[in-house]
Amino acid sequence: MLTNLNDMLHNAYEEHYAVGSFNGYSYETFRGIIEAGRKAGNAPIIAAFGAKYLSNMTLKNAYSIIASIAEECPNQQICIHLDHCKDRSVIIQAIRAGFGSVMFDGSALPFGENVERTKEICDIAHACGVSVEAELGSLQAGMNSHEGEVTDREIYTNPEQAKEFVEKTGVDALAVSIGTVHGMYKGVPKVRTDILSEINNEVGIPLVLHGGSGTPEQTIRACIKNGISKINVNTEISMAAVECAAGKIVERPHLSVLSFTVERCVEETVLKYIRFFKEGNNN
Ligand SMILES: [Zn+2]
Repeated sequence: MLTNLNDMLHNAYEEHYAVGSFNGYSYETFRGIIEAGRKAGNAPIIAAFGAKYLSNMTLKNAYSIIASIAEECPNQQICIHLDHCKDRSVIIQAIRAGFGSVMFDGSALPFGENVERTKEICDIAHACGVSVEAELGSLQAGMNSHEGEVTDREIYTNPEQAKEFVEKTGVDALAVSIGTVHGMYKGVPKVRTDILSEINNEVGIPLVLHGGSGTPEQTIRACIKNGISKINVNTEISMAAVECAAGKIVERPHLSVLSFTVERCVEETVLKYIRFFKEGNNN
């Protein structure tokens, strides 16, 4: 069953668990992501397609692939979400293609402009029943990052600005910068759950953690306790699947076998995260 972020995240926020948002860019990756949710007892899942992957497939292709797989899973909540997008026209195209949720990333803009442009996206998306995630603050790029740029600077989200941002834009979920990185960490992660706690006290809406790959379990638990309800994972899934495919490719298998190997490996990695996020802070 296809849904938007609001249908999923409010319960997660109240009950202190998180829903995983996993990036796909091919049939195999989306199939592996959704199958992992099914195996975890029909866990809600966010199938994310980043504007970065528009060279892999169109928005309509991504929607059609995910929606056709979702038809086979009537008891599982699946949200088709556009990840990191700075372009208003691509966001509107995603809404027209059928996406249930979009992320407008205005984090590199001055505060006032980020507010103004996010609010405009919220007005359009909400009129269509589509949820919006926005971002305040900026994440650094770690190793093997496919989303961040080397020039990205770490700027922590300011809790008071977050309150003003949420009030003025009407955004449904807010991505925060508290020390996680896009990609794998270069050293020991220093995640500022104290800042997260202040943000959560100010805004009271579901918060989003980007850069889930490689973040220690106890840090994730502390984040979920302090309002994180959606966690993005991309790099670790890609690294695990490539490793797995590299092991198989030496056998020179038929391409269909290799394709299936990738799907299974994505499923295995995603399943590990879903189980852990579902436990949330309740253990
Ligand atoms: Zn991100």
